[in-house]
Amino acid sequence: MLTSVRVLALAAAAFAVAPAQTFAQTYDLLLQGGQVIDPDSQTNAVRDVAIKGGKIAKVAASIPAGEARRVINVKGRYVTPGLIDLHFHSFGYSGSISPDQYALPAGTTTVIDAGGPGYRTVDAFRQQVVNKNKARVLGLMNIAGNGMTGSASEDNVADMLPDKTAEAITKNRDIIVGIKVAHFGKPGWDALKRAIDAGTRAKVPVMVDDKIFTNAGRTSEEKLLRVMRPGDMHTHMFNDRQVEIISRFNSKVQPYALEARKRGVLFDLGHGGGSMLWPVAVPAAKQGFWPDTISTDLHTSSIQLPQSDMPNCISKMMMLGMSLPDAILKSTVNPAKAISRFPEMGTLREGAIADVAVLVLHEGVFAYNDAWGKKMLGTRKLENALTVRNGEVVYDSGLQPRKESTEIYDLLLLTGSQSIAIKGSRIVKVAASIPPRQGRAVIPGLGYKVEASPMVEGAPADIVLRDGQRRALIIKAGKVIRDEDGLYVSDATYVGPYSNFK
Ligand SMILES: [Zn+2]
Repeated sequence: MLTSVRVLALAAAAFAVAPAQTFAQTYDLLLQGGQVIDPDSQTNAVRDVAIKGGKIAKVAASIPAGEARRVINVKGRYVTPGLIDLHFHSFGYSGSISPDQYALPAGTTTVIDAGGPGYRTVDAFRQQVVNKNKARVLGLMNIAGNGMTGSASEDNVADMLPDKTAEAITKNRDIIVGIKVAHFGKPGWDALKRAIDAGTRAKVPVMVDDKIFTNAGRTSEEKLLRVMRPGDMHTHMFNDRQVEIISRFNSKVQPYALEARKRGVLFDLGHGGGSMLWPVAVPAAKQGFWPDTISTDLHTSSIQLPQSDMPNCISKMMMLGMSLPDAILKSTVNPAKAISRFPEMGTLREGAIADVAVLVLHEGVFAYNDAWGKKMLGTRKLENALTVRNGEVVYDSGLQPRKESTEIYDLLLLTGSQSIAIKGSRIVKVAASIPPRQGRAVIPGLGYKVEASPMVEGAPADIVLRDGQRRALIIKAGKVIRDEDGLYVSDATYVGPYSNFK
Protein backbone atom coordinates (compact mmCIF):
# COMPACT_ATOMS: atom_id res chain seq x y z
CA MET A 1 0.00 0.00 0.00
CA LEU A 2 2.66 2.39 1.15
CA THR A 3 4.91 1.30 -1.69
CA SER A 4 2.31 1.87 -4.36
CA VAL A 5 1.63 5.36 -3.02
CA ARG A 6 5.35 6.12 -3.20
CA VAL A 7 5.52 4.78 -6.71
CA LEU A 8 2.61 6.93 -7.74
CA ALA A 9 4.18 9.96 -6.12
CA LEU A 10 7.46 9.31 -7.93
CA ALA A 11 5.61 8.89 -11.19
CA ALA A 12 3.82 12.17 -10.65
CA ALA A 13 7.15 13.85 -9.84
CA ALA A 14 8.67 12.44 -12.99
CA PHE A 15 5.80 13.82 -15.00
CA ALA A 16 6.12 17.15 -13.24
CA VAL A 17 9.77 17.45 -14.22
CA ALA A 18 9.21 16.87 -17.91
CA PRO A 19 6.67 19.66 -18.51
CA ALA A 20 8.80 22.10 -16.43
CA GLN A 21 11.69 21.52 -18.82
CA THR A 22 9.43 21.85 -21.82
CA PHE A 23 8.08 25.16 -20.47
CA ALA A 24 11.49 26.55 -19.48
CA GLN A 25 11.85 30.14 -20.66
CA THR A 26 8.20 30.31 -21.46
CA TYR A 27 8.11 34.05 -20.95
CA ASP A 28 9.83 36.87 -22.83
CA LEU A 29 10.13 39.10 -19.78
CA LEU A 30 9.66 38.75 -16.05
CA LEU A 31 9.32 41.76 -13.74
CA GLN A 32 10.21 40.23 -10.43
CA GLY A 33 9.40 41.23 -6.87
CA GLY A 34 7.70 44.60 -7.41
CA GLN A 35 4.74 46.01 -5.51
CA VAL A 36 1.98 45.58 -8.07
CA ILE A 37 -0.78 48.17 -8.00
CA ASP A 38 -3.47 47.06 -10.42
CA PRO A 39 -6.73 48.83 -9.59
CA ASP A 40 -8.64 46.59 -12.02
CA SER A 41 -7.97 43.47 -9.92
CA GLN A 42 -7.69 45.49 -6.69
CA THR A 43 -4.16 44.17 -6.29
CA ASN A 44 -1.72 46.04 -4.05
CA ALA A 45 0.84 43.38 -3.18
CA VAL A 46 4.26 42.00 -4.08
CA ARG A 47 3.81 40.09 -7.31
CA ASP A 48 5.80 38.86 -10.28
CA VAL A 49 4.57 39.88 -13.71
CA ALA A 50 5.37 37.68 -16.72
CA ILE A 51 5.01 38.91 -20.28
CA LYS A 52 4.85 36.90 -23.48
CA GLY A 53 4.14 37.86 -27.07
CA GLY A 54 3.35 41.44 -26.09
CA LYS A 55 0.70 40.35 -23.59
CA ILE A 56 0.49 40.00 -19.83
CA ALA A 57 0.90 36.23 -19.44
CA LYS A 58 0.80 35.76 -15.69
CA VAL A 59 0.69 37.75 -12.46
CA ALA A 60 1.52 35.62 -9.41
CA ALA A 61 3.19 35.70 -6.01
CA SER A 62 6.17 33.81 -7.39
CA ILE A 63 7.20 32.97 -10.94
CA PRO A 64 10.58 31.18 -11.25
CA ALA A 65 13.28 33.27 -12.95
CA GLY A 66 14.23 30.25 -15.07
CA GLU A 67 10.93 30.49 -16.91
CA ALA A 68 11.78 33.80 -18.58
CA ARG A 69 14.34 34.81 -21.18
CA ARG A 70 14.85 38.18 -19.49
CA VAL A 71 14.37 38.92 -15.80
CA ILE A 72 14.33 42.40 -14.29
CA ASN A 73 14.42 42.75 -10.53
CA VAL A 74 11.97 45.52 -9.61
CA LYS A 75 11.98 44.99 -5.85
CA GLY A 76 11.13 48.15 -3.95
CA ARG A 77 9.37 49.68 -6.96
CA TYR A 78 5.74 49.93 -7.95
CA VAL A 79 4.52 48.02 -10.97
CA THR A 80 1.37 49.50 -12.52
CA PRO A 81 -0.47 49.38 -15.82
CA GLY A 82 1.12 51.77 -18.31
CA LEU A 83 -0.18 55.24 -17.49
CA ILE A 84 -2.85 56.77 -19.73
CA ASP A 85 -2.65 60.51 -20.29
CA LEU A 86 -6.08 61.75 -21.29
CA HIS A 87 -4.86 65.21 -22.30
CA PHE A 88 -1.66 65.47 -24.34
CA HIS A 89 -0.60 67.53 -27.37
CA SER A 90 1.18 65.79 -30.23
CA PHE A 91 -0.40 67.23 -33.40
CA GLY A 92 -1.77 70.47 -34.83
CA TYR A 93 -1.16 72.68 -31.81
CA SER A 94 2.00 74.81 -32.08
CA GLY A 95 3.35 73.47 -28.78
CA SER A 96 2.97 69.81 -29.75
CA ILE A 97 5.58 67.31 -28.58
CA SER A 98 6.59 63.76 -29.43
CA PRO A 99 4.81 61.02 -27.44
CA ASP A 100 7.79 58.66 -27.72
CA GLN A 101 10.20 61.32 -26.52
CA TYR A 102 8.10 62.70 -23.66
CA ALA A 103 5.44 60.17 -22.68
CA LEU A 104 7.29 56.85 -22.68
CA PRO A 105 10.06 58.03 -20.29
CA ALA A 106 7.31 59.12 -17.89
CA GLY A 107 5.68 55.66 -17.79
CA THR A 108 2.87 56.86 -20.04
CA THR A 109 2.15 54.23 -22.69
CA THR A 110 -1.03 55.81 -24.07
CA VAL A 111 -1.62 59.46 -24.86
CA ILE A 112 -4.85 61.00 -26.03
CA ASP A 113 -4.18 63.99 -28.24
CA ALA A 114 -6.70 66.53 -26.99
CA GLY A 115 -8.04 68.26 -30.06
CA GLY A 116 -5.05 68.45 -32.41
CA PRO A 117 -6.79 67.06 -35.49
CA GLY A 118 -10.05 68.23 -37.04
CA TYR A 119 -12.15 66.32 -39.57
CA ARG A 120 -10.00 67.80 -42.33
CA THR A 121 -6.62 66.82 -40.81
CA VAL A 122 -7.29 63.43 -39.21
CA ASP A 123 -5.45 61.53 -41.96
CA ALA A 124 -2.30 63.59 -41.37
CA PHE A 125 -2.63 62.92 -37.63
CA ARG A 126 -2.74 59.20 -38.33
CA GLN A 127 0.23 59.22 -40.70
CA GLN A 128 2.46 61.69 -38.89
CA VAL A 129 1.82 60.80 -35.25
CA VAL A 130 -0.23 57.65 -34.63
CA ASN A 131 1.74 55.49 -37.07
CA LYS A 132 5.14 56.97 -36.15
CA ASN A 133 5.16 56.43 -32.38
CA LYS A 134 5.63 53.34 -30.27
CA ALA A 135 3.42 54.96 -27.65
CA ARG A 136 -0.25 54.30 -28.31
CA VAL A 137 -1.67 57.56 -29.64
CA LEU A 138 -5.41 58.18 -29.73
CA GLY A 139 -7.16 61.44 -30.38
CA LEU A 140 -10.07 63.67 -29.54
CA MET A 141 -11.20 65.30 -32.78
CA ASN A 142 -11.49 69.06 -32.61
CA ILE A 143 -14.93 70.39 -33.50
CA ALA A 144 -13.07 72.96 -35.62
CA GLY A 145 -12.42 71.47 -39.06
CA ASN A 146 -8.76 72.51 -39.15
CA GLY A 147 -8.10 71.38 -35.60
CA MET A 148 -6.15 73.18 -32.91
CA THR A 149 -4.31 75.59 -35.17
CA GLY A 150 -5.14 78.94 -33.59
CA SER A 151 -8.08 81.31 -33.38
CA ALA A 152 -8.67 81.42 -37.17
CA SER A 153 -9.71 77.78 -36.84
CA GLU A 154 -10.89 77.54 -33.23
CA ASP A 155 -13.17 80.61 -33.38
CA ASN A 156 -14.58 79.77 -36.80
CA VAL A 157 -18.07 78.50 -35.99
CA ALA A 158 -18.85 78.18 -39.71
CA ASP A 159 -16.29 75.36 -39.90
CA MET A 160 -17.59 73.52 -36.82
CA LEU A 161 -19.68 70.93 -38.62
CA PRO A 162 -21.25 68.20 -36.48
CA ASP A 163 -22.15 66.00 -39.47
CA LYS A 164 -18.67 66.09 -41.05
CA THR A 165 -17.00 65.62 -37.67
CA ALA A 166 -19.22 62.64 -36.77
CA GLU A 167 -18.62 61.13 -40.21
CA ALA A 168 -14.83 61.46 -39.85
CA ILE A 169 -14.99 59.88 -36.39
CA THR A 170 -17.01 56.94 -37.71
CA LYS A 171 -14.30 56.35 -40.34
CA ASN A 172 -11.50 56.55 -37.77
CA ARG A 173 -12.91 54.80 -34.72
CA ASP A 174 -9.65 52.91 -34.16
CA ILE A 175 -7.86 56.15 -33.27
CA ILE A 176 -10.51 58.79 -32.50
CA VAL A 177 -12.21 58.33 -29.12
CA GLY A 178 -14.02 61.61 -28.61
CA ILE A 179 -14.35 65.29 -29.43
CA LYS A 180 -12.58 68.36 -28.11
CA VAL A 181 -13.82 71.91 -27.97
CA ALA A 182 -11.18 74.39 -26.90
CA HIS A 183 -10.03 78.00 -26.81
CA PHE A 184 -13.32 79.38 -28.18
CA GLY A 185 -12.93 83.12 -27.69
CA LYS A 186 -16.37 84.38 -28.70
CA PRO A 187 -19.55 84.80 -26.71
CA GLY A 188 -22.31 82.21 -26.69
CA TRP A 189 -22.65 78.44 -26.75
CA ASP A 190 -22.14 77.81 -30.49
CA ALA A 191 -18.84 75.92 -30.31
CA LEU A 192 -19.76 73.79 -27.31
CA LYS A 193 -23.24 72.94 -28.60
CA ARG A 194 -21.89 71.93 -32.00
CA ALA A 195 -19.27 69.73 -30.33
CA ILE A 196 -21.95 68.04 -28.26
CA ASP A 197 -24.16 67.61 -31.33
CA ALA A 198 -21.25 65.86 -33.07
CA GLY A 199 -20.64 63.77 -29.94
CA THR A 200 -24.27 62.66 -29.85
CA ARG A 201 -24.20 61.74 -33.55
CA ALA A 202 -20.92 59.76 -33.24
CA LYS A 203 -21.76 58.42 -29.74
CA VAL A 204 -18.52 59.68 -28.20
CA PRO A 205 -17.76 61.96 -25.25
CA VAL A 206 -16.74 65.61 -25.55
CA MET A 207 -13.81 67.11 -23.66
CA VAL A 208 -14.47 70.73 -22.79
CA ASP A 209 -11.78 73.39 -22.44
CA ASP A 210 -13.93 76.47 -22.38
CA LYS A 211 -13.35 80.04 -21.29
CA ILE A 212 -15.63 81.83 -18.91
CA PHE A 213 -15.37 85.58 -18.96
CA THR A 214 -17.70 88.41 -18.14
CA ASN A 215 -19.15 88.92 -21.62
CA ALA A 216 -19.08 85.27 -22.74
CA GLY A 217 -22.73 84.70 -21.93
CA ARG A 218 -21.57 81.37 -20.52
CA THR A 219 -21.43 80.24 -16.92
CA SER A 220 -19.95 77.16 -15.28
CA GLU A 221 -23.32 76.32 -13.76
CA GLU A 222 -25.22 76.25 -17.03
CA LYS A 223 -22.38 74.44 -18.79
CA LEU A 224 -22.06 71.69 -16.17
CA LEU A 225 -25.74 71.17 -15.44
CA ARG A 226 -27.52 71.84 -18.72
CA VAL A 227 -25.12 71.78 -21.68
CA MET A 228 -22.67 68.95 -20.98
CA ARG A 229 -23.88 65.35 -21.01
CA PRO A 230 -23.03 62.58 -18.55
CA GLY A 231 -19.67 61.17 -19.66
CA ASP A 232 -18.48 64.49 -21.09
CA MET A 233 -15.27 65.68 -19.47
CA HIS A 234 -14.34 69.11 -18.21
CA THR A 235 -10.58 69.41 -18.39
CA HIS A 236 -8.50 72.06 -16.55
CA MET A 237 -10.66 71.55 -13.44
CA PHE A 238 -8.17 73.32 -11.15
CA ASN A 239 -8.02 76.33 -13.46
CA ASP A 240 -9.86 79.50 -12.55
CA ARG A 241 -10.69 80.85 -16.01
CA GLN A 242 -12.42 77.92 -17.66
CA VAL A 243 -14.61 76.37 -15.02
CA GLU A 244 -15.39 77.62 -11.55
CA ILE A 245 -15.26 74.63 -9.21
CA ILE A 246 -14.40 76.63 -6.09
CA SER A 247 -16.29 79.75 -5.11
CA ARG A 248 -13.84 82.61 -5.06
CA PHE A 249 -15.81 84.24 -2.27
CA ASN A 250 -15.91 81.44 0.32
CA SER A 251 -13.50 78.77 -1.08
CA LYS A 252 -16.29 76.17 -0.96
CA VAL A 253 -16.89 73.67 -3.75
CA GLN A 254 -19.72 75.09 -5.82
CA PRO A 255 -23.00 73.18 -5.32
CA TYR A 256 -23.38 72.91 -9.10
CA ALA A 257 -19.98 71.18 -9.32
CA LEU A 258 -21.17 68.54 -6.84
CA GLU A 259 -24.44 68.19 -8.74
CA ALA A 260 -22.62 67.89 -12.08
CA ARG A 261 -20.48 65.08 -10.69
CA LYS A 262 -23.61 63.33 -9.47
CA ARG A 263 -25.14 63.50 -12.94
CA GLY A 264 -22.02 61.94 -14.48
CA VAL A 265 -20.01 64.87 -15.80
CA LEU A 266 -16.32 63.96 -15.46
CA PHE A 267 -13.60 66.27 -14.16
CA ASP A 268 -10.11 65.99 -15.61
CA LEU A 269 -6.94 67.51 -14.17
CA GLY A 270 -5.37 68.79 -17.45
CA HIS A 271 -2.49 70.46 -15.57
CA GLY A 272 -0.87 72.35 -18.43
CA GLY A 273 0.89 75.69 -18.38
CA GLY A 274 -1.93 77.63 -16.71
CA SER A 275 -4.47 75.20 -15.38
CA MET A 276 -3.37 73.71 -12.06
CA LEU A 277 -3.41 76.37 -9.41
CA TRP A 278 -2.90 75.78 -5.70
CA PRO A 279 -5.63 78.31 -4.70
CA VAL A 280 -8.13 76.06 -6.50
CA ALA A 281 -6.58 72.61 -5.99
CA VAL A 282 -5.90 72.94 -2.24
CA PRO A 283 -9.45 73.81 -1.12
CA ALA A 284 -10.93 71.33 -3.66
CA ALA A 285 -8.74 68.53 -2.26
CA LYS A 286 -9.58 69.47 1.32
CA GLN A 287 -13.26 69.12 0.46
CA GLY A 288 -12.67 65.83 -1.37
CA PHE A 289 -13.38 67.19 -4.86
CA TRP A 290 -10.69 65.23 -6.71
CA PRO A 291 -10.14 64.70 -10.44
CA ASP A 292 -11.82 61.66 -12.00
CA THR A 293 -8.82 61.48 -14.31
CA ILE A 294 -5.26 62.72 -13.86
CA SER A 295 -3.84 64.18 -17.08
CA THR A 296 -0.98 66.45 -18.03
CA ASP A 297 -1.98 68.77 -20.89
CA LEU A 298 1.66 68.28 -21.80
CA HIS A 299 3.13 70.61 -24.42
CA THR A 300 6.32 72.60 -24.92
CA SER A 301 5.74 75.00 -22.03
CA SER A 302 3.90 72.90 -19.42
CA ILE A 303 6.74 70.40 -19.50
CA GLN A 304 9.14 73.02 -18.21
CA LEU A 305 8.57 74.98 -14.99
CA PRO A 306 5.42 73.23 -13.76
CA GLN A 307 6.81 69.84 -14.92
CA SER A 308 3.39 68.45 -15.59
CA ASP A 309 4.28 64.92 -16.71
CA MET A 310 2.18 62.06 -15.31
CA PRO A 311 4.43 61.08 -12.35
CA ASN A 312 4.65 64.75 -11.31
CA CYS A 313 0.89 65.26 -11.62
CA ILE A 314 0.41 62.14 -9.48
CA SER A 315 3.02 63.39 -6.97
CA LYS A 316 1.18 66.71 -6.70
CA MET A 317 -2.14 64.97 -6.06
CA MET A 318 -0.45 62.77 -3.43
CA MET A 319 0.96 65.87 -1.76
CA LEU A 320 -2.64 67.11 -1.49
CA GLY A 321 -3.65 63.84 0.18
CA MET A 322 -4.56 61.39 -2.59
CA SER A 323 -3.33 57.82 -2.00
CA LEU A 324 -1.00 56.21 -4.55
CA PRO A 325 -3.47 53.41 -5.46
CA ASP A 326 -6.22 55.99 -6.00
CA ALA A 327 -3.88 58.10 -8.16
CA ILE A 328 -3.03 55.01 -10.24
CA LEU A 329 -6.77 54.29 -10.66
CA LYS A 330 -7.24 57.83 -11.96
CA SER A 331 -4.27 57.42 -14.33
CA THR A 332 -5.19 54.00 -15.77
CA VAL A 333 -8.68 52.53 -15.34
CA ASN A 334 -10.57 55.83 -15.18
CA PRO A 335 -9.16 57.45 -18.34
CA ALA A 336 -9.55 54.11 -20.20
CA LYS A 337 -13.21 54.00 -19.13
CA ALA A 338 -13.74 57.67 -20.02
CA ILE A 339 -12.94 56.85 -23.66
CA SER A 340 -14.63 53.41 -23.61
CA ARG A 341 -11.32 51.58 -24.03
CA PHE A 342 -11.37 49.56 -20.83
CA PRO A 343 -10.17 46.78 -20.37
CA GLU A 344 -8.34 47.05 -23.68
CA MET A 345 -5.88 49.17 -21.69
CA GLY A 346 -5.31 50.31 -18.10
CA THR A 347 -5.05 46.83 -16.59
CA LEU A 348 -2.53 44.08 -15.82
CA ARG A 349 -5.07 41.29 -16.22
CA GLU A 350 -3.78 38.21 -18.01
CA GLY A 351 -4.20 38.49 -21.77
CA ALA A 352 -4.11 42.29 -21.80
CA ILE A 353 -1.61 44.16 -23.96
CA ALA A 354 1.59 44.40 -21.90
CA ASP A 355 1.81 48.12 -21.20
CA VAL A 356 3.53 48.53 -17.84
CA ALA A 357 5.11 51.31 -15.80
CA VAL A 358 7.65 50.64 -13.05
CA LEU A 359 7.64 53.59 -10.69
CA VAL A 360 9.83 54.56 -7.75
CA LEU A 361 8.64 56.58 -4.81
CA HIS A 362 11.31 58.83 -3.30
CA GLU A 363 11.11 60.15 0.25
CA GLY A 364 12.53 63.55 1.08
CA VAL A 365 11.50 67.16 0.67
CA PHE A 366 10.42 68.13 -2.83
CA ALA A 367 9.14 71.38 -4.26
CA TYR A 368 6.11 71.41 -6.52
CA ASN A 369 5.20 74.40 -8.63
CA ASP A 370 1.70 75.11 -9.75
CA ALA A 371 1.11 76.56 -13.21
CA TRP A 372 1.85 80.04 -11.87
CA GLY A 373 5.19 78.87 -10.47
CA LYS A 374 3.97 79.04 -6.86
CA LYS A 375 5.67 76.45 -4.75
CA MET A 376 4.48 73.95 -2.17
CA LEU A 377 6.62 71.38 -0.41
CA GLY A 378 5.86 67.68 -0.33
CA THR A 379 7.65 64.67 1.17
CA ARG A 380 7.11 62.11 -1.60
CA LYS A 381 7.98 62.13 -5.27
CA LEU A 382 7.02 59.53 -7.82
CA GLU A 383 9.32 58.93 -10.78
CA ASN A 384 9.20 56.47 -13.61
CA ALA A 385 12.04 53.94 -13.75
CA LEU A 386 11.03 51.61 -16.55
CA THR A 387 8.40 51.46 -19.27
CA VAL A 388 7.12 48.43 -21.12
CA ARG A 389 5.00 49.09 -24.19
CA ASN A 390 3.44 46.22 -26.07
CA GLY A 391 5.75 43.80 -24.24
CA GLU A 392 8.91 45.69 -25.17
CA VAL A 393 11.12 47.58 -22.71
CA VAL A 394 11.12 51.04 -24.29
CA TYR A 395 12.65 52.97 -21.38
CA ASP A 396 14.90 51.96 -18.49
CA SER A 397 16.55 54.58 -16.29
CA GLY A 398 17.90 52.16 -13.66
CA LEU A 399 16.50 54.58 -11.10
CA GLN A 400 16.68 53.62 -7.41
CA PRO A 401 14.36 54.96 -4.71
CA ARG A 402 15.93 57.61 -2.44
CA LYS A 403 15.27 58.12 1.24
CA GLU A 404 16.13 61.48 2.73
CA SER A 405 14.89 63.52 5.67
CA THR A 406 11.23 64.42 5.24
CA GLU A 407 11.34 67.19 7.87
CA ILE A 408 9.86 70.47 6.65
CA TYR A 409 10.57 73.62 8.68
CA ASP A 410 8.47 76.78 8.71
CA LEU A 411 11.54 78.97 8.49
CA LEU A 412 15.22 78.32 7.77
CA LEU A 413 17.88 80.89 8.59
CA LEU A 414 21.11 80.21 6.74
CA THR A 415 24.12 82.16 8.01
CA GLY A 416 26.88 80.46 6.07
CA SER A 417 28.40 78.69 9.06
CA GLN A 418 25.13 77.66 10.66
CA SER A 419 21.60 76.69 9.68
CA ILE A 420 18.83 77.49 12.14
CA ALA A 421 15.48 75.74 11.70
CA ILE A 422 12.30 77.16 13.17
CA LYS A 423 8.93 75.49 13.63
CA GLY A 424 6.11 77.53 15.07
CA SER A 425 7.65 79.89 17.64
CA ARG A 426 10.68 77.76 18.53
CA ILE A 427 14.15 76.98 17.27
CA VAL A 428 14.01 73.24 16.60
CA LYS A 429 17.40 72.55 15.05
CA VAL A 430 20.80 74.22 14.86
CA ALA A 431 23.24 72.49 12.50
CA ALA A 432 26.18 73.21 10.25
CA SER A 433 24.00 72.74 7.19
CA ILE A 434 20.32 72.10 6.47
CA PRO A 435 19.27 71.96 2.79
CA PRO A 436 17.25 75.08 1.86
CA ARG A 437 14.55 72.89 0.27
CA GLN A 438 13.52 71.77 3.77
CA GLY A 439 12.26 75.28 4.58
CA ARG A 440 8.83 76.62 3.62
CA ALA A 441 10.53 79.99 3.89
CA VAL A 442 14.25 80.76 3.77
CA ILE A 443 16.36 83.69 4.98
CA PRO A 444 19.86 83.90 3.50
CA GLY A 445 21.67 85.64 6.36
CA LEU A 446 25.24 85.46 5.07
CA GLY A 447 27.20 88.61 5.98
CA TYR A 448 24.89 89.61 8.84
CA LYS A 449 25.61 89.28 12.54
CA VAL A 450 23.10 86.86 14.02
CA GLU A 451 21.96 87.44 17.60
CA ALA A 452 19.75 85.09 19.53
CA SER A 453 19.66 84.27 23.17
CA PRO A 454 20.13 81.45 23.42
CA MET A 455 20.78 79.84 20.01
CA VAL A 456 19.83 76.33 21.08
CA GLU A 457 17.20 73.81 20.15
CA GLY A 458 13.94 74.39 22.03
CA ALA A 459 14.62 78.09 22.66
CA PRO A 460 12.10 80.74 21.54
CA ALA A 461 12.79 81.86 17.98
CA ASP A 462 13.68 85.48 18.79
CA ILE A 463 16.48 86.41 16.43
CA VAL A 464 18.01 89.64 15.13
CA LEU A 465 20.21 90.00 12.03
CA ARG A 466 22.44 93.06 12.29
CA ASP A 467 24.32 94.95 9.61
CA GLY A 468 26.64 96.97 11.85
CA GLN A 469 24.31 98.76 14.25
CA ARG A 470 21.33 98.46 11.91
CA ARG A 471 18.76 95.80 12.72
CA ALA A 472 18.10 94.51 9.21
CA LEU A 473 15.77 91.64 10.11
CA ILE A 474 13.90 90.72 13.26
CA ILE A 475 12.25 87.39 14.00
CA LYS A 476 9.91 87.42 17.00
CA ALA A 477 8.39 84.11 18.17
CA GLY A 478 9.13 82.58 14.78
CA LYS A 479 7.56 85.40 12.74
CA VAL A 480 9.50 87.88 10.62
CA ILE A 481 8.40 91.29 11.91
CA ARG A 482 11.01 93.44 10.19
CA ASP A 483 12.85 92.84 6.91
CA GLU A 484 14.63 96.00 5.75
CA ASP A 485 16.77 94.23 3.15
CA GLY A 486 14.13 91.96 1.63
CA LEU A 487 15.85 88.78 2.80
CA TYR A 488 12.74 86.76 3.62
CA VAL A 489 11.70 84.47 0.78
CA SER A 490 8.46 82.65 1.42
CA ASP A 491 7.52 79.55 -0.52
CA ALA A 492 4.23 79.19 1.27
CA THR A 493 1.05 78.50 -0.62
CA TYR A 494 -0.03 81.41 -2.66
CA VAL A 495 -3.59 82.46 -1.88
CA GLY A 496 -5.64 84.39 -4.50
CA PRO A 497 -6.62 86.70 -5.97
CA TYR A 498 -8.19 84.80 -8.80
CA SER A 499 -7.30 85.80 -12.32
CA ASN A 500 -10.85 85.24 -13.48
CA PHE A 501 -12.81 87.71 -15.56
CA LYS A 502 -9.80 88.90 -17.48
ZN1 LIG B 1 -4.59 71.19 -23.83
